Amino acid sequence: MESLNLKTKLLYLLLVVGFGLVVVGLVGYFNLRSMRNHVDTLYFGSLLPLGELESITDTYHGKLGSTVYLWSHNLISNEQAAQNITLGLDTVDQMWGNYLSHDKRPEELPYVDYTESQIESMRSYFLQIRGVILSPQDPQPVSLSILSDNIGSIHATIHQLIHYENAAARYEHSLILTQHQNSLMQLALLLCVILGFVMGLAWMIFTRIELQQRQLIESTETLKHLNLKLEHASYTDSLTALFNRRYFNIVYEREFKRALRAGKPFVFLMLDIDFFKQYNDTYGHLQGDIALQSVARILKATLQRPGDHPFRLGGEEFGVIITETDCANARLMGEKIRANIEGLQMEHKGSKIAQILTVSIGGVCVIPTGLMGDEALMHTADTNLYAAKERGRNQVVFTNTL
Ligand code: GH3
Ligand code: MG
Ligand code: MG
Repeated sequence: MESLNLKTKLLYLLLVVGFGLVVVGLVGYFNLRSMRNHVDTLYFGSLLPLGELESITDTYHGKLGSTVYLWSHNLISNEQAAQNITLGLDTVDQMWGNYLSHDKRPEELPYVDYTESQIESMRSYFLQIRGVILSPQDPQPVSLSILSDNIGSIHATIHQLIHYENAAARYEHSLILTQHQNSLMQLALLLCVILGFVMGLAWMIFTRIELQQRQLIESTETLKHLNLKLEHASYTDSLTALFNRRYFNIVYEREFKRALRAGKPFVFLMLDIDFFKQYNDTYGHLQGDIALQSVARILKATLQRPGDHPFRLGGEEFGVIITETDCANARLMGEKIRANIEGLQMEHKGSKIAQILTVSIGGVCVIPTGLMGDEALMHTADTNLYAAKERGRNQVVFTNTL
């Protein structure tokens, strides 16, 4: 699950939903079909047979019974009576045949057989009467009370069957209701299962997406942090932890333009350690590195305001940009840096001007104008540094162009 991508997960979700709906459809289809069968059974198995059984009893009472009664009272002719009996018996046969053609449950068959034997007896009985009617030369009395008993008996038998069919219809009806109830329950259960499954799957997918998003955000944050660190590293000198020449170029241009816009003084100082070659020669390169770190510490300690920016420009050369100041104060800052390094009293036996480590500083302070290029300013600072060296080192040569 973890390794699947979002598209595949959603595809699985769709497949599950689709499968679920197909299952619901199939269950619904089979249930409805089964219910239709029950309705058919109820209608063709019970209602139609009821009608046929009713018309058989009606025929016994009406066509057959009444005919014999009317004949015995000489109200209809012999021929008419015989014909009515034939028609009545045919009707009974036809109705019974129809009744038998409907499906029967195994348990009702014995009673159906019994009823059929009763109908057969009644047929013989009426055929006998018909025989009597058709042979008037040998008249025999037909007992109306036996007729009444026989019709009553067949009536009771058939009504028992009707009663049975009614019970069967009620049973079918209750089956339909139960099945309907079951279908609804099954459907609801199935929908709940599918819904639960889909929700579970959706929950899994969305928590996974959330997790991936969180991981992505975390990775982006880490990457940002690493980028910042990398950027900081690319702008920092590893020996002194001061900003390097690359960052100096950026800050120099940015601050120069800012001073130009604001019409405020811009100060640039260039520092160079005096006789540093001899320092290395005397104390070794490692000690030379320590001396560079000491000079950097003094720069950081002396330049602590937000507008002060010290840099290591390369080798034993340092640069300082000072903004948010005036030129008089800038000159003092240069002097202060020089004095603080001198104040370190770091032994430098190779120096030709003192026995301690010193620096020379060339500085310049201007309020930039559109005509003035920042390179010219750098050149002036460089010239001043050279002048400081020329004049005996361990000093500040400062040009105030205001
Ligand atoms: P000057 O007073 O005229 O500046 O004399 P200098 O000897 O300082 O002048 P130069 O520029 O000839 O010598 C600079 C020396 O700085 C040369 C090199 O050995 C040393 N140097 C440059 N970078 C480093 C560094 O990273 N570590 C050490 N230990 N020495 C360095
Ligand atoms: Mg140098
Ligand atoms: Mg030097």
